[in-house]
Amino acid sequence: MRCVLCEGLSLEHICSTCQEIYLTPSLHKRKIFHDIEVISFYNYDEIKELLYTKHTDLGFYIYSLLAKKSFKLFANSFQFPNLVASIAIDDHVRSGYSHTAILNKELQSQYIKPYFNTLRDKNQVSYAGKSREFRLLHPRNFVFKNFKEKDVILVDDIVTTGLTFTHAINSMNKNNKNVLACLALADASFKH
Ligand SMILES: [Zn+2]
Repeated sequence: MRCVLCEGLSLEHICSTCQEIYLTPSLHKRKIFHDIEVISFYNYDEIKELLYTKHTDLGFYIYSLLAKKSFKLFANSFQFPNLVASIAIDDHVRSGYSHTAILNKELQSQYIKPYFNTLRDKNQVSYAGKSREFRLLHPRNFVFKNFKEKDVILVDDIVTTGLTFTHAINSMNKNNKNVLACLALADASFKH
């Protein structure tokens, strides 16, 4: 097949050279609500063409690859005194798979237990490309399903204003959970 980035011959959808150049994560941290850290792995502008594949057959492969390059590495270096739950935001299935569930799955480790279908948005309003005002006028309405662990890592694919994470943190706090950090594949508000 041909590499989707350089169109060179490749055994995978993205060749090893392009994986090295474009998919090596550059960790970025910023703080939001309650001083909680949002950790992102890519600059949105650098991988947006890949993220556009989200609702196609290729998207499943691309998201799986990105998850292995970033979330899996995070999980490999993460340690904590007790087991931590990881919760993907709004991981319902679109186009045959859930892109945030793919990311969440790669966090599985000795210290992290991924949960699925735990935080769903009842409103189902798309925030993509919408203004901050629109987002404020249409707050997320999360439905929370309880789980055993107290400490939580939240997972989403793209962070922009941080409002979705903030709503999710509120939902966790209301249910006596402690959010340790938020992980996003790409940060759209920041130039790395
Ligand atoms: Zn290539």
